[in-house]
Amino acid sequence: MKLDVSKGFLTPATQFPFEADVTLEPQDVNGEMVSFDTVSISGTFLVLDDEIHLKGILRTVAHGACAVCLEQADATVEVNFAENFEQNVDETEAEIFCYTGKSVPLDHMALTLVMLNLPMRFECEGECKSITKYHLQMNEDTMSSCVDGSPTQRPFEALQSLLKKDEEV
Ligand SMILES: [Zn+2]
Repeated sequence: MKLDVSKGFLTPATQFPFEADVTLEPQDVNGEMVSFDTVSISGTFLVLDDEIHLKGILRTVAHGACAVCLEQADATVEVNFAENFEQNVDETEAEIFCYTGKSVPLDHMALTLVMLNLPMRFECEGECKSITKYHLQMNEDTMSSCVDGSPTQRPFEALQSLLKKDEEV
């Protein structure tokens, strides 16, 4: 999927809205295949000094195997992004994407963003998810109990109000 950004070259430093759909091939994630719904991207692009700035939101649903019961599990992936595209850069070296001509290739960016934002593990809806939630809740409870809840004492405040009363009389 290539996004035509020629409008941006005609009118630099101006934001143009865009929407695009990208299809991703299933990916091998730590030995397990993860597939993806069509990735929908919406946002704005802007051309400035031969650099293309793209920002917006990217959404898809990833399908993997539940870490608990190995049934199919879905995970929504939603990423707010802001990425730059430059000409003649080595994508493996720099954290910048490359474009040629007056269009931006979205496949590589979409794949990179989705892979970076995949959940650590998949869990199917229902029992498996509630088991994990329970464990997370337990951790949070032990952490919050460390906070000291005793009210702050301010002896001087009481003294001040006493003095004020004297002045009023
Ligand atoms: Zn499960």
